[in-house]
Amino acid sequence: MHEAAELERRYGAHNYDPLPVVLVRGRGAEVWDAQGRRYIDMMSAYSAASFGHAHPRLVAALAAQAGRLAVVSRAYHTDRLGPFLARLCALTGQEAALPMNTGAEAVETALKAARKWAYEVKGVPPGRAEIVVCEGNFHGRTIAIVGFSSEAAYREGFGPFPPGFVRIPYGDAEALEAAITPHTAAFLVEPVQGEAGIVIPPRGYLARCAEICRREGVLLIADEVQTGLGRTGRLLACEHDGVRPDGLILGKALGGGLLPVSAFLARREVMDVFRPGDHGSTFGGSPLAAAVGLEALAVLEEEGLVARSAELGRHLLERLQPLRRSPRVRAVRGLGLFCAVELDTDRIDARTACERVIEAGVLTKDTHGRVLRLAPPLVIDRALLDEAVERIASVLA
Ligand code: PMP
Repeated sequence: MHEAAELERRYGAHNYDPLPVVLVRGRGAEVWDAQGRRYIDMMSAYSAASFGHAHPRLVAALAAQAGRLAVVSRAYHTDRLGPFLARLCALTGQEAALPMNTGAEAVETALKAARKWAYEVKGVPPGRAEIVVCEGNFHGRTIAIVGFSSEAAYREGFGPFPPGFVRIPYGDAEALEAAITPHTAAFLVEPVQGEAGIVIPPRGYLARCAEICRREGVLLIADEVQTGLGRTGRLLACEHDGVRPDGLILGKALGGGLLPVSAFLARREVMDVFRPGDHGSTFGGSPLAAAVGLEALAVLEEEGLVARSAELGRHLLERLQPLRRSPRVRAVRGLGLFCAVELDTDRIDARTACERVIEAGVLTKDTHGRVLRLAPPLVIDRALLDEAVERIASVLA
């Protein structure tokens, strides 16, 4: 075993079981290991590296701001935060944004906003607010968030959990309608479920949910930490259904793949439940985060990455179709560059498949031991995509 991996095993917590490769550098959609072997990145760090590795513009923005002013806390204004938030709101059609760092923090922020909104605006009796979530959800790893997960492994051994969450089947708008009570503050949903295995709900599902939420006075909060910023071929996955959510959570790619940057966005009425002292983060909205986030949004627009994701996503899905003839493959699906190959685990287990695909020079990762995710950086080109598919096919065929 490589010495660095050995040290990681010896001195690290074992909360991950990394695949057997030690990566040392990356550029665009390619990364290299400690032996100098090159891999095509079909994982993009769960969409965090959507702009590719070491994007020159983002690296330059990071370096310039790091040498100027990196962090001062939110105790002061900076020249960077306002322009970043303004751009973020203009792009997403939201009225206000609250910057955090990780996805889970932004989800927690959304939950706090929804509860306070329910008490202050909707008039829900104190302590009674409910939030509806979905089976198969993944929103992060904090106690509150894993507390409403349907995944036993995420919860076991970590209770007790905060109450006030109701879980319903994903993709079923009638179930949402049935779950709503006068105490319901919000419906928190992923427009496409990522960690559940790239689960794409029926067309019109989100639009139907939005309609129900509007009628019932419930906030629709979309967690687009993974699906947002072009991943599914639209700027936001909500747009596939023509929905503008009441609350929106972004993360991962927002930091340009260089640092953790997340945000909760909402209508002004919702955001205004936060007053000085209610909520915050030392690093959230730092000049460094804001400068890189702003540059990431500029790159997204100027390089046409949303349209690229839609076009290359269609190409990738088409190229993956022949894999369905393999007895090891049960299904292929995708939306934009957010694709998945579902394995027949009686014939090949996902860990083995991932290891062999890596040996063939492609980085991927399974979810739940049955689905290989194929979600490359949006900057990837057709030739690299085709090469990756050929290499994957050589393992699965
Ligand atoms: N929400 C969604 C939809 C996610 O996919 C993830 C991460 N996979 C998170 C939230 C949590 O983000 P983070 O790991 O940055 O806390």
